[in-house]
Amino acid sequence: MDSLDHPVIITFRPAEQGGKRALAHETRLQFWLFDKPNGAAFCDIEFDLVTGLASSTFAKGCLDWQTVICSHHDFVGVPVDLEQIYERMAGTPARILKVAVHADDVTDCIPVFKLLERARREGREMIAIAMGAAGIATRILGPSRGSFLTYGALETDGATAPGQLTAKELRELYRVDRITEQTLIMGLVGLPVGHSVSPHVHNAAFAAAGVNGVYIPFEVRDAKSFFGRIVHPQTREIDWNLRGLSITAPHKATVMDDLDWVEPAAQEIGAVNTVVVVGDALHGYNTDATSVLKPVIERFGSLRDSRCAIIGAGGAASAALWSLRREGACVTVFARNFQKTNSLAEKFGARYENLEAARFDAFDLVINATPLGTCGQRENETPAISDQLRGARFAYDLVYNPTETRFLREARDAGCETLGGLPMLVQQAAEQFKLWTGADAPIEVMRVAAERALQ
Ligand code: NAP
Repeated sequence: MDSLDHPVIITFRPAEQGGKRALAHETRLQFWLFDKPNGAAFCDIEFDLVTGLASSTFAKGCLDWQTVICSHHDFVGVPVDLEQIYERMAGTPARILKVAVHADDVTDCIPVFKLLERARREGREMIAIAMGAAGIATRILGPSRGSFLTYGALETDGATAPGQLTAKELRELYRVDRITEQTLIMGLVGLPVGHSVSPHVHNAAFAAAGVNGVYIPFEVRDAKSFFGRIVHPQTREIDWNLRGLSITAPHKATVMDDLDWVEPAAQEIGAVNTVVVVGDALHGYNTDATSVLKPVIERFGSLRDSRCAIIGAGGAASAALWSLRREGACVTVFARNFQKTNSLAEKFGARYENLEAARFDAFDLVINATPLGTCGQRENETPAISDQLRGARFAYDLVYNPTETRFLREARDAGCETLGGLPMLVQQAAEQFKLWTGADAPIEVMRVAAERALQ
């Protein structure tokens, strides 16, 4: 240990507090008083033990309290008496206080940020973290809010606590060392969000364009509570420099109720994928709609009077339908849910057909706007096979992960030209960048970042 050139934190944790094995109280005392290796910069000792050590004159004298981190872990939730726990910990001689709680929902980050605020006000050195996927914001933003440090794993599967990012991600993707309270905060709201490449795309764009901004994934189950307590400037419980959000499934339609103004196109489509904080208000846009056809038109030319089929009747299908009608295309929607599809088709003057046993030979363009083919459980699925697609000219899959989907393979077998969802992803992200920063996006940087993240 003496030969290490980086400061080291020692822990000796019993299983019930996050360690790997059961440890008797006496074993833990023995370790900290007599057996701990020399040369560590910090000793992370659990609160229950710190109390005992601090009350014994002998034990108290054995420790250099300037190196002690007094820690409290809760792997189940956020204790209701978190503030009182902090006060009791602050009464010990430990120099640094650490609280790690489990976040079930992003709103569980609020008490953690509030505790950091209080510690800073009171001049206490503090580490506060919400564990779990919903707590990632505390790991990324903590140091800029006064957290003494944040934890990063050395390897992707080497996390020592739930939700822990790698040190490489913290440094290179989120650029944690550069985040300050002035840094603009953007992020992705959805459930799930772990698969998304958007953090790679947007953070790379901010770095390349010299924007002091960070883009964070927010895994949100209850969007209403998230918008009320964390997002809306008039009601939120934390003070942060939030500039905007990307919205993904399943919240694109429901968040509209929480916005102060929604652009007419997004209103017509019935979905918002971009939120911008404007003063005290929230504005909503749909950059899926303005970007979905751009890559097709670049390859295919004008879509006026072309015969187009959309498979699916969700948010992406509505955006594609709105866009195709604006281009003057004749659209048929193919989906499995009659009621939903019929009302969508009617709203935009399109035709409706059942997806079962559909044939696409009469179409110039066939768009997959379902999640079938997405990496994971559905990777091997397709909404149409080559027999159904034969005769169609062009097949476009909005799914971008994987870049090569089964739908695209089936289409190629059927002799169609093909296009995947990656160019649309990059285009809609570039439009979001412009809405949040007012500047043109470094689109080539974003494309490369997306491709690299997908590899
Ligand atoms: P969504 O709102 O959940 O809609 C999904 C649609 O797919 C629904 O109509 C659903 O039908 C249908 N569907 C699901 N499983 C099906 C199945 N087994 N057979 C037939 N239809 C099925 O999702 P979304 O937001 O529209 O997104 C759809 C896809 O587009 C996703 O894969 C998303 O990643 C992709 N997307 C890509 C981009 C991009 O930038 N490239 C942007 C937006 C979306 P029911 O209504 O009957 O459930």
